[in-house]
Amino acid sequence: MAKKCLEYINELNDYLDGEIDSSLCAEIEAHLGECQNCRIMVDTMRQTVKLCREGKVINLPESLESKLNNLLKERWDKKFGKQG
Ligand SMILES: [Zn+2]
Repeated sequence: MAKKCLEYINELNDYLDGEIDSSLCAEIEAHLGECQNCRIMVDTMRQTVKLCREGKVINLPESLESKLNNLLKERWDKKFGKQG
């Protein structure tokens, strides 16, 4: 059974920092190839990290942020059922 999106998301911080095991990195990239939700998440995080490093103030539009959160939550609830 493949890992859940949530588990990948937890590893994405390391992935974006480049401080990640190469086999795990390949695993994440394979998942990103087939999961649009996680791709959106990575793109957003990557952009945020980039702006951070450049010392810019980040203003992720509130609408985008909540839309993203809702989208991911909905999909996950549907796919995996509510957990916890
Ligand atoms: Zn995913």
